[in-house]
Amino acid sequence: MSIFRPLSDPADPNHYEVAGVKVICTHCQNQMFYENRVQHKIHEPAYAEDQYTGKMATALICSRCSMMLTFTDKPDKIVV
Ligand SMILES: [Zn+2]
Repeated sequence: MSIFRPLSDPADPNHYEVAGVKVICTHCQNQMFYENRVQHKIHEPAYAEDQYTGKMATALICSRCSMMLTFTDKPDKIVV
């Protein structure tokens, strides 16, 4: 079972950059990721519930170890 299926066609993993810094897997140091759009679940107090539900984020899933890194800003794909 995997929730890490890329949304786009069976694309090869890509390199990504966020805030001018190349994304590197914090677990295995891999630099190739699959991109996926995910619901950003934030547990907030009840009064803020409406404000935060339904926010989308971009998840980068390491092509080697499946570590998932989540960014609320869309990472830039690096063409190498
Ligand atoms: Zn990894």
